[in-house]
Amino acid sequence: MLDGYGRKIDYLRVSVTDRCNLRCRYCMPEEGIESIGHASILTFEQIVRLIRVAAKVGICKVRFTGGEPLVRKDITKLIAKVAEIPQINDIAITTNGVLFAEMGEELKKAGLTRVNFSLDSFVPEKFNYITRLGNFNDVIRSITTALKVGIGPVKINTVVMKGFNDDEILNFVKLANEMPLHVRFIEFMPIGDLPFYQKERLFTMVEIKKIIESRYELINGSTLQTNGPAKSYQLKNGIGTVGFISAMSSHFCSECNRIRMTVDGKLRGCLFAKEEISLKMAMENGASDEKLAGLFGKAIKGKPSRHYMNEGWGADNERKMYQIGG
Ligand code: SAM
Repeated sequence: MLDGYGRKIDYLRVSVTDRCNLRCRYCMPEEGIESIGHASILTFEQIVRLIRVAAKVGICKVRFTGGEPLVRKDITKLIAKVAEIPQINDIAITTNGVLFAEMGEELKKAGLTRVNFSLDSFVPEKFNYITRLGNFNDVIRSITTALKVGIGPVKINTVVMKGFNDDEILNFVKLANEMPLHVRFIEFMPIGDLPFYQKERLFTMVEIKKIIESRYELINGSTLQTNGPAKSYQLKNGIGTVGFISAMSSHFCSECNRIRMTVDGKLRGCLFAKEEISLKMAMENGASDEKLAGLFGKAIKGKPSRHYMNEGWGADNERKMYQIGG
């Protein structure tokens, strides 16, 4: 389905939980987290129904995220159920890699086609600092598992923060150069009002690229399916690719192909949108599939032309990343 600006929207990001087994400083506060109550989150059946309806209005790619999607009960069964929907040809997850090593094989069997791991540092102490609860070796085991069971392409999401991990950029690129891994550098985004957000931490795509090009040749036109705004490059003589998600420094909104569904069943046209449409409430009021399809259509047609993050620096965004689904 085309939105109001002629963009084809075929990608739905589904948050299956706002809970997480890590507490990344740029994403969640350490304490005082109010999780959405059980009664307010979408049930397994509701998620499957909504994805079925979304498929009827042109969604063919789904990504499960959160919070941490692998802590959602029955996530493997959910993936298997969604894999039965004929129009859905791509099922991905974004995960912190804490639990994936144990689950990789069953997730692959269930129908998972792609996985993105979040990893911001190769230095275990820095990894512990940024995630507060993480164990670096778990993530490495999970990445190895994904490669072994053949879920691919395997992507690594790295949020670059000035003074924290900008000195590790070339180490990440080395990994993509030597292994079938696809590293995507993400510009630090301000969402909510967590104390960790500081404009000074932003390290732009131009700055990241300059560092990479001091050592590597980037070749335009990677054939990697990027599913939207990431700009990907092949590395000359390298195995993997590097990509950039430059939400802050350059607008890629004209290429955006996605809408988002929160764990409490609200549709958002943009990560930073203020408007939401409650599908859960509609279902509880007895909405038919046709009515729900109409609400998907409304969200797609109402998708904003661009985000306004640079103007507001996220301070007025009521929900934080883990509450929307990153
Ligand atoms: N728990 C999963 C994970 O860690 O990948 C999925 C949810 S997490 C919110 C999804 C992605 O959002 C991660 O790659 C994370 O690095 C990114 N993210 C969270 N907060 C961010 C921020 N302030 N700026 C940029 N990326 C952010």
